[in-house]
Amino acid sequence: MIQGISGAAGVAIGKAFVLPSWEWDLPDQKMDAVDLAREFERLYEGIKTSRDEIQHIKQEFNEVVGPEESSIFDAHLAILEDPVFMNEIQGIIERQYKAAEVAVKEAIDHFVTMFDLLDDEYMKERALDIKDVGNRLLKHLLGAPEITLPLDTQPYILVANELSPSQLAHLNPNYVLGIVTLIGGKTSHSAIMARALGIPMVSGLENSVNLPVQTGDVLVINGDEGIVYVNPDPLIIEKYTEIRDQQLRKKEQLQVLAEVDAVTKDGTQLNLAANISSVKELDMSLRSGAKGVGLFRTEFLYMDRHSFPSEEEQYEVYRHVVEKTGGNAVVIRTLDIGGDKQLDYFPLPEEDNPFLGYRAIRISLELKDLFKTQLTAILRASVHGKVKIMYPMISSLDEIREANQILNEVKASLSERGISYDPNIEVGIMIEVPAAVVIADLLAREVDFFSIGTNDLVQYVLAVDRMNEQIAHLYQPFHPSVLRLLRMTAEAAHAAGISVSVCGELAGDERAVPIWLALGIHNLSMSPQSLLRVKHRVLNTEAAKAVTVAKSCLTMSTGKEIEAELEKYKRNSTQSTSLS
Ligand code: PEP
Ligand code: MG
Repeated sequence: MIQGISGAAGVAIGKAFVLPSWEWDLPDQKMDAVDLAREFERLYEGIKTSRDEIQHIKQEFNEVVGPEESSIFDAHLAILEDPVFMNEIQGIIERQYKAAEVAVKEAIDHFVTMFDLLDDEYMKERALDIKDVGNRLLKHLLGAPEITLPLDTQPYILVANELSPSQLAHLNPNYVLGIVTLIGGKTSHSAIMARALGIPMVSGLENSVNLPVQTGDVLVINGDEGIVYVNPDPLIIEKYTEIRDQQLRKKEQLQVLAEVDAVTKDGTQLNLAANISSVKELDMSLRSGAKGVGLFRTEFLYMDRHSFPSEEEQYEVYRHVVEKTGGNAVVIRTLDIGGDKQLDYFPLPEEDNPFLGYRAIRISLELKDLFKTQLTAILRASVHGKVKIMYPMISSLDEIREANQILNEVKASLSERGISYDPNIEVGIMIEVPAAVVIADLLAREVDFFSIGTNDLVQYVLAVDRMNEQIAHLYQPFHPSVLRLLRMTAEAAHAAGISVSVCGELAGDERAVPIWLALGIHNLSMSPQSLLRVKHRVLNTEAAKAVTVAKSCLTMSTGKEIEAELEKYKRNSTQSTSLS
């Protein structure tokens, strides 16, 4: 068994196809001065062919998975046009009299080494993009054939040293059972794409310098736990075949609940909406019966590109999402960058504590034009359905007032220009900073709704960095302090007569259903994959009993006790159903 990192969930069983690495035979002789013009010509020709090819792949990929995922190739096009990358290549040709392909190879090595040296996962992933684009350019300069994948006659598990987004884009998802890569983390573009395509993936194989797999080996991969078995004994294959089939059966069985309302046995209805960051995720959510979008993480529209998205681009995406959601509300959260979410064209300052630093609304209130562009796009989209605006990371009343002041300016400007928008658009805030909970009664007077972001709330109240694996055991969403904050927020919202929902990961945790019922929180928003599981849980819950259990949890003193109590209740109340 080899331990790696979970890239995309699910179990896959099949034969390995090991993708050969791109290795080149490069000429090392020096050019004459007269050859230089020809080398530049070859370089420009190679760039043009590569650009056409990337555009073609982008188009193809767009048809399979949608515009968000295919926009990754915009980043590749940007690299081909990047003056720093191009100057490096041209400089090597001009000053060192080297052939175009040698210059490209040396430029790739230069930037990849530089990015790899940075202690920054994001930049390491960008090094992969540079390698990918550079290799494509090299391929054309050398006239080398594309590395071919097995013919699409038999499904296979793709194994590669590393897998670039464009290599992944060439794959036919109907034939790729799973993916294993030696290099790559959870945030690599390839992992993001594998998740979007629903292909189980394991990457970052621990302690492996070379791929411990050969073409034809039988593999079992467990994408949930990041485990790979190579030529395992029949018992392992049997066990995982069972798990895989069970997962598929459960998925199919749950699917029948898509059209059913989430109502407890004794008649309390919950509204289950989706957290999305792309149109593709919206489609998945709607297939799972989401009642609207409770959190649209718009920062993903700003990623994988080389400049900020224009008002028009944003408007188009928001309008599309709003129209597709068909009458149910779409809560559009304004830009929430900073922390672990970075933009490569807008480097944020190095910070000792990025999660306590320049983030979210703090950036929007400083970069007012950027904020206004987004608010304009959201307001314009508000005439196409039910849109709500949500500000992230609010910690004071001043921030709400300042943001609303800017919103009013944007509204006035639209009115002046005769552009319509919903004048009664609701405005709410994320409750994710403990200070916001403590003054929730004050904040509730100035907004239309609260949405509790437990992901950040837990990290801030417990002082446990949500990214730090070493202290992951201390990150306890059921810690009594968290439950108290949830209760305080719900009470403040109820007292002020505004709505309150939960959109952090805890909303997608089936065990938490009794807590929501006890606190009178009837709106939840969660990742698309959690919707049907949570709905199943709600359907199997008797609210009256669940409230009693949750109330006793609220008196307990440790997270472990609370978790155990909720687990016990979940087990007891699902005994009679086949889907647990
Ligand atoms: C949260 O903090 O709970 C939340 C939903 O926001 P994000 O995960 O995007 O920080
Ligand atoms: Mg958050």
